Amino acid sequence: MRQLDMGGLRVNSGARVLFTYYKSVMELITELGIENEVEYVGMSDMVCEDVNTSYPVSFALNLDALFNSALKMTTRLRLAKLLPDLIRARFFTDPDDMTTCSYLDDESMQSYFSRKVGEDFISKVVDPLFRGARSWNAEDVSPAFFLSTTAHTAGHRAFTFKQGIGYLNQQLASMLNVSFGAIVSRIERKSNEPGVNIQYTKDGRSESLHADIAICATEGAKIAELVKNQTAEETRFMKTIRYNSLGIVYYILKKDVDHGITFFTREHPSPLAILETVPEKDNKPHLFCELSPETVTEVANDDLRDGMDQLIIHEIKKRRSKLDQELDYSVNQWIEHMLPVFYPGYIAAIRQFIDHQDSHPQSIYYCGDYLSQALVGGACDSGKRLASLIARHHSLTKGATLSETRQV
Ligand SMILES: Cc1cc2nc3c(=O)[nH]c(=O)nc-3n(C[C@H](O)[C@H](O)[C@H](O)COP(=O)(O)OP(=O)(O)OC[C@H]3O[C@@H](n4cnc5c(N)ncnc54)[C@H](O)[C@@H]3O)c2cc1C
Repeated sequence: MRQLDMGGLRVNSGARVLFTYYKSVMELITELGIENEVEYVGMSDMVCEDVNTSYPVSFALNLDALFNSALKMTTRLRLAKLLPDLIRARFFTDPDDMTTCSYLDDESMQSYFSRKVGEDFISKVVDPLFRGARSWNAEDVSPAFFLSTTAHTAGHRAFTFKQGIGYLNQQLASMLNVSFGAIVSRIERKSNEPGVNIQYTKDGRSESLHADIAICATEGAKIAELVKNQTAEETRFMKTIRYNSLGIVYYILKKDVDHGITFFTREHPSPLAILETVPEKDNKPHLFCELSPETVTEVANDDLRDGMDQLIIHEIKKRRSKLDQELDYSVNQWIEHMLPVFYPGYIAAIRQFIDHQDSHPQSIYYCGDYLSQALVGGACDSGKRLASLIARHHSLTKGATLSETRQV
């Protein structure tokens, strides 16, 4: 969760908004005393384009859905069937920890909504929003994500920070002994001595260190290649982790534009999941074009990561006939490991691994969104729970520190 400079444009590496229902994040903000830096953001007007029509869409599941003419009347009425599940989820799930919704993790979100509401609700509403915001197809993920988050949105707000989304991380990093830009290549337990050896590269130089404990907080997809001499539990769990990828193209414009966000249905021929026009505020005016999951697969298979702007430019020109005059330059952003895919049944694998991690002191610990919830709230909560666990396992009291902690 930080901001990167890509060719003079400021872009996000991941999250762009946080929600006040992220309990651990809110506690951290209070602990750091940075409440005044919080900047609330309103929900934007969003449109979804289908093959022959377009209609407003919203992430908030509110009464607007009842008046969505893209949906059949029976579907609109059947939306009420979601209420008992949402009420249960509001009281009994933790939005920072999707494993609390294990009771609804044995079918796909596609099957859940078809059973409860109707196929058209998936194609007209769920698909465009989830493919846009998460690059997830409804058939690939569990409804537990939808329930454990949507149930908690009422009464809460979206926010970022006045100094940008990376502000929280910067504040934390300024209080720690961080070795920034160190790329770890190997984490290895030694068979004849306690602790772990860590090999990493920094400024082109190979370095290594020995540590009592290593906390591996990378994307879950990376741990299999980093950790050597894995235990049976680690190997078993690592095989269950899945991630998706994302491609984003930014067309930087010479002149300012009005703000607008368009989502697309899966049936729509556009290669995009989202097209957003972003006005000049404190960044350059640009078009934010997020590729659809099918286009992402095409880019990965044909190795077109550096040519995504050329791949989709014809589609953009169809919508903006004066693009040649408007366009300053373009930037391609490829995110190899975008989000952990919380597929049906994954919660059981997480639980088994967490129970194992909790059961006795370890030399390598793991935390991150893939162990909790595919949001910043989940990542933060996972880290917080792990800190308490390590304190317990290694008899640390509040305020105590290990003799030296290094973040690489
Ligand atoms: C495009 C996009 C949009 C998103 N939008 C939102 C949103 O609006 N709201 C929200 O709440 N969440 C959003 N998310 C999800 C959110 O960003 C993640 O859930 C969260 O950042 C995960 O945090 P983490 O600490 O588990 O992992 P990460 O933030 O992925 O951090 C892992 C870190 O490990 C580092 N690393 C990896 N390999 C190595 C290595 N070998 N050596 C050293 N370091 C290494 C990486 O550089 C990275 O800094 C979005 C994600 C993406 C990709």
